[in-house]
Amino acid sequence: MKKRLLILGGTTEATQLATQAAEIPNLEVISSLAGRTQQPINPTGTVRSGGFGGVEGLINYLQAQQIDLLIDATHPFAAQISWNAAMAVDRISIPKLSIVRPAWQSEPNWIEVESNEAAAAILPDLAQRIFLTIGRQELATFAHLRQLWFLMRMIDPPADTAQIPSGEILLARAPFSVEQERSWMQNYEIQAIVSKNSGGDATVSKLIAARELKLPVVMVQRPLMPNGETVSDVRSALSWITQQF
Ligand code: NAP
Repeated sequence: MKKRLLILGGTTEATQLATQAAEIPNLEVISSLAGRTQQPINPTGTVRSGGFGGVEGLINYLQAQQIDLLIDATHPFAAQISWNAAMAVDRISIPKLSIVRPAWQSEPNWIEVESNEAAAAILPDLAQRIFLTIGRQELATFAHLRQLWFLMRMIDPPADTAQIPSGEILLARAPFSVEQERSWMQNYEIQAIVSKNSGGDATVSKLIAARELKLPVVMVQRPLMPNGETVSDVRSALSWITQQF
């Protein structure tokens, strides 16, 4: 019997999973993107884009599209959609799996903090020139630190109305090499890096370069995620899918 799988995406793992799951017989794959990135890397197969409208909207979508299986392959910091997905499947009893890539392991040059706000609070005593690698959505948290200078890296420019810290915007999409990260840090005379603990290979080079250059890294910890069946890679997610038949 055919089954329909919805992948909540926006990550490399989600894109890889969509490509590989398309090979599984009797499985239809739909990928969902939030629709934030101007030129997203579209997964193979059917793609929908934009929010569902909270838990109720997601339940309506899952029922209307007769989805049999849900895989939450969103980013470790995309907490809202993961909580929405957990609440939706609890209500309508659809099997759900989460792919959560392992976090990066703490290093001696890290200062671990719980949030962007906590990162902003310690920066004035730490450095003057900061490499902000948290994307574009939470720039406002650092905007009041007018005495500091920020190199802000993101894929798309911030909205015209966004509150932006003083400094320079660097538009670039991962993966980055260690050489590239080192040269940005040296050319912009960076004294500290702010990062989310995203894990994975695509953005790990900044941590290697920071360690080599003996720069402190302010590492924002992951938000709390719902309980539920979880794997750490795409291969395990593919096995989970085949077990559902
Ligand atoms: P979020 O805070 O968890 O979600 C906010 C809202 O965006 C959700 O309530 C949902 O809207 C919508 N949404 C999020 N992901 C969606 C998806 N895959 N399909 C449909 N709607 C989605 O998410 P975020 O942190 O803004 O991240 C947005 C997307 O970017 C995610 O898909 C994530 O995988 C990707 N991403 C995030 C980060 C990061 O650092 N946060 C980094 C890389 C990639 P409704 O409530 O209206 O359904």
